[in-house]
Amino acid sequence: MAIKRLLIANRGEIALRIHRAAHEMGIETVAVHSTADADAMHVRLANHAVCIGPPAAKDSYLNMAAIISAAEITQADAIHPGYGFLSENAKFAEIVEAHGLFWIGPKPEHIRTMGDKVEAKRTAGALGLPLVPGSDGAVSDPVEAKAIAAEIGYPVIIKAASGGGGRGMKVCTGPDDLESLMQQAGNEAKSAFGDATVYLEKYLGNPRHIEFQIFGDGKGEAIHLGERDCSLQRRHQKVLEEAPSPVISHAERDRMGGIVARAMADMAYRGAGTIEFLWEDGEFYFIEMNTRLQVEHPVTEAITGVDLVREQIRIADGKPLSVRQEEIEFKGHAIECRINAEDPFNFTPSPGLVTSYHAAGGMHVRVDSGLYAGYKIPPYYDSMIAKLIVYGRTREGCIMRLRRALEEMVIGGVKTSIPLHQRLLQDPTFLDGGYTIKYLEEWLAKDAT
Ligand code: ADP
Repeated sequence: MAIKRLLIANRGEIALRIHRAAHEMGIETVAVHSTADADAMHVRLANHAVCIGPPAAKDSYLNMAAIISAAEITQADAIHPGYGFLSENAKFAEIVEAHGLFWIGPKPEHIRTMGDKVEAKRTAGALGLPLVPGSDGAVSDPVEAKAIAAEIGYPVIIKAASGGGGRGMKVCTGPDDLESLMQQAGNEAKSAFGDATVYLEKYLGNPRHIEFQIFGDGKGEAIHLGERDCSLQRRHQKVLEEAPSPVISHAERDRMGGIVARAMADMAYRGAGTIEFLWEDGEFYFIEMNTRLQVEHPVTEAITGVDLVREQIRIADGKPLSVRQEEIEFKGHAIECRINAEDPFNFTPSPGLVTSYHAAGGMHVRVDSGLYAGYKIPPYYDSMIAKLIVYGRTREGCIMRLRRALEEMVIGGVKTSIPLHQRLLQDPTFLDGGYTIKYLEEWLAKDAT
């Protein structure tokens, strides 16, 4: 292994996750942290730690110069960006490589292509992935937009080319509103992302969110690791994810997985990636590709036995994929609950001192979290403080074990979303697996009345 010392350009549970994989591979770690994270668990565990700035992410975790300096000072030879922050920043990837460091991520040009949703869709279409019907690229002329919308049929969704996190999208139900909604979407996109480019898509009424995990070696080999169902969302944020999806058969997984793996092989894609689809009435529609590790990657690890972070590091180091497609077996069922420090009913953030902490345990129970009793959850970052990932031989067994594990979790001093998960795990629609991306919000609205 050429990589000897890995700088982790992230925080929280994912920084700890990366640290663990690195140490299991005999690689030293360097933590970088803001002043607010000086007492974080991954900072304590890393071999070296460098403070890179004040709490605001733009001055620390997004501060490229400070991160590169930290790598130089500590003589790190590789950088793992985790998810969020700089993970999908093509410029940062280029800077890392220009400094002679290993970038644990895809080739910068692929990050750039997939970061522009219009380009991503065009590329996906050219690679043979099924697309949501819509405009062929960006649209700016309202007359042209009306013609396209009439052809694909209302409702349509206007999306920002540079969009992310569910922002810059408008649903339009008829031709009268199209021009003004395009204006609004463009203006919002301009102020949020500095780019007013929009495009049109057919708005699917009640789809599921199903994504495929892929890996490429950067030289033309690629595999898929099956799908994850992330349909349970609130405000486009995933709340609970499972693998496999309750609605995808073995044959369908093989078929669609084969298509995505071939597409990635054709691109000579390097590293981990996720191809996101909406799924309705048995059909897949590509919406975007994430060129990084996902929060929900552990459910894939649980059913395949492949350590995805280890695989990322190996590939960045120039090694071949550690498994062949035919060696990957999808066994059992896994569910991840994202545990946030927030009110489980009104979702207001609840940072502060964790007075007591006990992680669930037992067979097939995994807790990825940097929490400990006495830790102070800072108010500056994402509210996710832990992930509980449970495996079972069947979906039913997994749900029973997950209920048991949630009962065991103790996080004192702050409010958490554990009670939300506990209620969800009693819901008949969840239990029969028949939910879509609209389900959780409708369920929450009903619950509130
Ligand atoms: P972002 O990058 O902002 O997350 P996505 O393209 O991934 O944007 O879409 C986010 C979410 O918006 C999807 O998970 C889905 O809930 C909804 N969405 C996006 N496109 C469509 C569509 N064509 N029809 C219906 N819902 C959509």
